[in-house]
Order: sequence, then C-alpha cells, then structure tokens
Amino acid sequence: MLKITPYLGTLVLIVSIGGLWYPKLGYVVALVFLSILVISPFRGRWFCGNLCLWGSFNDFWVGKISRKVSIPGLFSSLFLRVPVFILLMGFNISRIISTEGAVDKLGMVFVTMSILTASFSILFGAAWSPRAWCTVCPMGTLQRLLGGGKYPLKLDSDLCIDCSRCQKVCPMQLDLRAAGGDPDCIKCGRCVEACPRGALRF
Ligand code: SF4
Ligand code: SF4
Ligand code: SF4
Repeated sequence: MLKITPYLGTLVLIVSIGGLWYPKLGYVVALVFLSILVISPFRGRWFCGNLCLWGSFNDFWVGKISRKVSIPGLFSSLFLRVPVFILLMGFNISRIISTEGAVDKLGMVFVTMSILTASFSILFGAAWSPRAWCTVCPMGTLQRLLGGGKYPLKLDSDLCIDCSRCQKVCPMQLDLRAAGGDPDCIKCGRCVEACPRGALRF
C-alpha cells in the first residue's frame, strides 16, 4: 500500500509561505481538489490517508507538538461538519468568483485556503490529536459524502483476539469494530500493519 511521507507535508509550507510571493503555487491546492473529486467516489477518504499534503503535515509535523488526547466526539458529527462544509465552501466559492479568472488573484485564493487549512491543522492538532482537523475538514467531509462506503476496512472477528493494537494506532481514533467499516476511515493501513493476527484487510 502507498504510504504517506513527510515530504508531502513540507509542500504545505512551500505553498503557504512561498505562495505569498508567487501565487501560482496555489494551483497545487486546485490539483488536490481535482484529485479528491476523481478518487473519492471509488475509494472514499483514501486520499486523506495516502496523498493529502495537509494530512502528511499533520502526521509528521503537527504530531511533534500535539497533546495526543482524545478528539471531541462532536467533531465527527455531521451536524457540525455539514454546516462547516457549507460555510467554508460558500466562502471560498464566492472568493473564486470575485477573481473573475485573473490567474494570480485566483492563485492567491488557493494560497489563502492552504494557509487557513495549515493554521486550523496546527491549532486543532496541538490542542487534541495530530489528525483532529481531519475530522472536521470540509474536504474530508466531501470525500465521506461522495464515497464513504467504498473500499471498506473488514474485520475477521474469528481471528481477532481483542488486543486493541489497531485502535491505538488509528490516527482518526475510529472504532474499528464498526460494521462495514467507518466512512471516515482514511485507509492509511496502520491498523492492518499493527494487527498481529492478520484480522484486518481492505
Ligand atoms: S481531512 Fe482535509 S486536511 Fe485532512 S487529510 Fe483529508 S483533505 Fe487533507
Ligand atoms: S481504521 Fe485503520 S486504515 Fe482506517 S484510519 Fe484507522 S488506522 Fe487508518
Ligand atoms: S489488532 Fe487485530 S487482533 Fe488486535 S483487536 Fe485489532 S483486529 Fe483484533
């Protein structure tokens, strides 16, 4: 399985800081949006666990300053996430329209999105767990809505010895016994690697 690397996370700093002088770097964000729209109907939140720049930033950089405590249950509730999704997407779409297609202005809108996502990632990650922002992030919610049931994690309960090792390594702090897999699973495969009995697979 493809693994997320620390190098992806460094691109967040290049886009967010370098983009202030060279706004075209913001088009990396547009590429991310496009990839999410193409991949998520088939693989759910796979992009989050394997290719997202901010996901890598959270895992490898925010993780160094995180308190690593439980993520509040409210964050994974769609009652919070859907309004956050509508508000942030509405805000960003109105800003995109206001650029009237000017290349650098549009790039700067994407750079701002990168800065905002990195800032939320650092705040949430420091206060709770490295991937705390990923439970609320509108792009994560979009992937869940487009393909949450796709490519599910499967548990063979005959092999499972209830050792909880999988639970401890899950960056999203999911309940791995959820029937049919959790739609917020980011398919990072860490639980599969941690299981001593080979009881988990996609
Ligand atoms: S939830 Fe958002 S920030 Fe986190 S990995 Fe997914 S797209 Fe990236
Ligand atoms: S359930 Fe497994 S694959 Fe899914 S996010 Fe948690 S550790 Fe990753
Ligand atoms: S790590 Fe494997 S054996 Fe242990 S609780 Fe998870 S699925 Fe069961």
